[in-house]
Amino acid sequence: MSFMDSILERAGLADISEKVFAAQRLTDDDALRLYAVRDLNALGYLANHVRERKNGNVATYVLNLYLNYSNVCILSCQFCAFARRPHEKEGQFTYDIEEMARQTKEASDRGITEVHIVGGLHPKLPFSYYTEMIRALKAASPDLCVKAFTAIEIRHLAERIAKKPIRETLELLREAGLDSLTGGGAEIFDPGVRDQICRGKESAEEWLEVHRTWHRMGRRSTCTMLYGHVETPAHRVDHLRRLRELQDETGGFTALVPFAFEPEHNKLERLGRVSAFEDLRNLAVARLYLDIFDHITAYWISLGLPLAQVALSFGVDDLHGTIQQEKIFHMAGSKTPQGQTVATLERAIREAGRIPVQRNTFYEQLNGHKASAALQPDAALP
Ligand code: SF4
Repeated sequence: MSFMDSILERAGLADISEKVFAAQRLTDDDALRLYAVRDLNALGYLANHVRERKNGNVATYVLNLYLNYSNVCILSCQFCAFARRPHEKEGQFTYDIEEMARQTKEASDRGITEVHIVGGLHPKLPFSYYTEMIRALKAASPDLCVKAFTAIEIRHLAERIAKKPIRETLELLREAGLDSLTGGGAEIFDPGVRDQICRGKESAEEWLEVHRTWHRMGRRSTCTMLYGHVETPAHRVDHLRRLRELQDETGGFTALVPFAFEPEHNKLERLGRVSAFEDLRNLAVARLYLDIFDHITAYWISLGLPLAQVALSFGVDDLHGTIQQEKIFHMAGSKTPQGQTVATLERAIREAGRIPVQRNTFYEQLNGHKASAALQPDAALP
């Protein structure tokens, strides 16, 4: 028996490691057992095996800019420090489109390839604000990918603002130039957990239906998991299973981007933040369970770059992006920087023994690999 075999056996992972090395799918029970593992090195060893099988020694990042068009929101998610209710004038902001186009053009001139846009559920902004915003950003920088809106924003726009079906709303946004949906709003899918942390927000089924519809239009998106609040390991496994099922169906997710709850300036402050141990364990379990996902992203805004760097050996193959103006986590107390330079990201990746490679929005490497944003639309999907 090799040294590593004995470590895996001692960690109670002998049978799961056989499945991992044979590239077999893990069950929900396997994932629950992985969430109970105390030997993080053994777990990381397995996750790293899958990470290197899928992505070799490369670690990617994207040159991007975050823009939040408005923090006015009709909901009051208990974990959110970003939103202001419509009557709460202090701390509210809503950008005009010209200002967003100006900032995007400036960043684009510095080399970004993606603008990432999310906001609150504004009760008054007309649908034309959103389509004109996308058109203005595309006009300012035609080659830029516009990655925008969570599934909850899409439902809000469809049901309350445009008053059109989800598919038609997405088609209108697509016509305006929307390239990708963001993965936010998924939180933890379990309805009991949602009731405690984001009452009134869309259900898991509604979130998944928006992404399913987008994927069936031949488009791609990311997905997320907000962990470290009231959920249990079983809730996390349920969340991952639902994402894996949709990925089996459409293949439209580019990556999972997990992040931990930040406990300042919101109604769940009493919970505190999960440990670095838990961050790494969650990333490793996600890598092992989501066999049909190509990429797991470490969100350094939440983890901090030093831990994101360590995560490159715990299943992660992507460090997200330069970001530049993050607000949502920082309003909740995150102490990480609001942006990174390419040099800093690349240095972190090299130090971890990986090869840094710039990617586009669709996780395609920009070093000669062919980019294809689109999936096969409806007809080719099961
Ligand atoms: S998380 Fe999103 S939907 Fe919930 S209150 Fe904050 S901005 Fe609104």
